[in-house]
Amino acid sequence: MTLSEISRFQPRAWKIISRSFEADRMAGTYLLHGSVGTGRWLTALAIGALLNCEGVVKDDSGLRVPCGECRHCRTIADLNFEGLLFAVPLPPHKSVNERLELTTAFLADKRDNPFKIMKSASSVTIPIEVARQIKKDLARRVGGEFRRIVLFYDMELMRQSSADALLKMIEEPPPDTTIILTSSRLEAILPTILSRSQKIKIDRIPEQVTQSYLAANGYASETRNRLYSRLSDGSIGLALEMLNGVDDDGASSRAVGFMLFKSLISESKPETVSHLNDLISSRNKGEAETLLKFWQSLIRDCAAYAVTGDESDIINVDFSHELIKVSPKFSEPATALSMAGEIKITLADLSLNVHIPGALTRLALKLKANLDLRN
Ligand SMILES: [Zn+2]
Repeated sequence: MTLSEISRFQPRAWKIISRSFEADRMAGTYLLHGSVGTGRWLTALAIGALLNCEGVVKDDSGLRVPCGECRHCRTIADLNFEGLLFAVPLPPHKSVNERLELTTAFLADKRDNPFKIMKSASSVTIPIEVARQIKKDLARRVGGEFRRIVLFYDMELMRQSSADALLKMIEEPPPDTTIILTSSRLEAILPTILSRSQKIKIDRIPEQVTQSYLAANGYASETRNRLYSRLSDGSIGLALEMLNGVDDDGASSRAVGFMLFKSLISESKPETVSHLNDLISSRNKGEAETLLKFWQSLIRDCAAYAVTGDESDIINVDFSHELIKVSPKFSEPATALSMAGEIKITLADLSLNVHIPGALTRLALKLKANLDLRN
């Protein structure tokens, strides 16, 4: 895939950008917002490439896109374009060297897979030192050979004091500079930043496009691709996590666990059971227990939000947007209570070494029955 294919993934957003480009009215600061894994990163790079490409072309849908082949397009895709500056969220670190290593690792992950969902524990922030360094770099004059692109990724993870220090720059970027901010939680962005940037919504990726992306990237089974394309709800990042299975940091198991939970709540009974069979048959006892405990906490979140309507009651913040959507199903307190009871029984069964796939399928049917009964 190259940056010239951007409009397949984000047809609506790219139309806006292409039109501004044609009218020579590109904004100085963009804020790309949307769900994780849907292409905020890719769109940011494509904007950077569009502004620096040596031979912008028209794609099949008639939109202006970067050629993907000139040296600027290629170095931007490889993340080593001279005029490309990054500020990405990092875990706590002790030294400049450590910070560079963490940044390099972050960029390597994104280079391999632009849709990769980056972990965001509560301690992860965009370091103030990076923001300061970027300000300093931008203050130096450039020869005008290219347009500088500054990418602040997951802007909501920047502390307010750091963000305040950047306000002037965001409002009026230095000459030959475009600033691109991304966010998956627009409500967590300072109003002063919102008002100073052009907001562009990054949509969920069409199911067909996700499916063909998965096929083109070596995920061969058509049945699985179709299943994951649908369950991931427009997020290639989530689909990839599901396809890659559980990895050691547990981030993927959360994604898979959540998708199963969603399937449980929103799909018909036969569909839910077939998804479960497809996804959980290989789980061992530890994984099954982790999954069920995760479901318990999701049910708890939905029930709490259904009662209070207060987002801060949600523990699984990485899924809060989705949890709020399904919480009305839990408005009857008895629903959550009986579902939690069923999970408890299954956890006890697992400790007695019952047949795991059977126990999970049985549980799914019982949970589903509980939901259907009260909704
Ligand atoms: Zn180019």
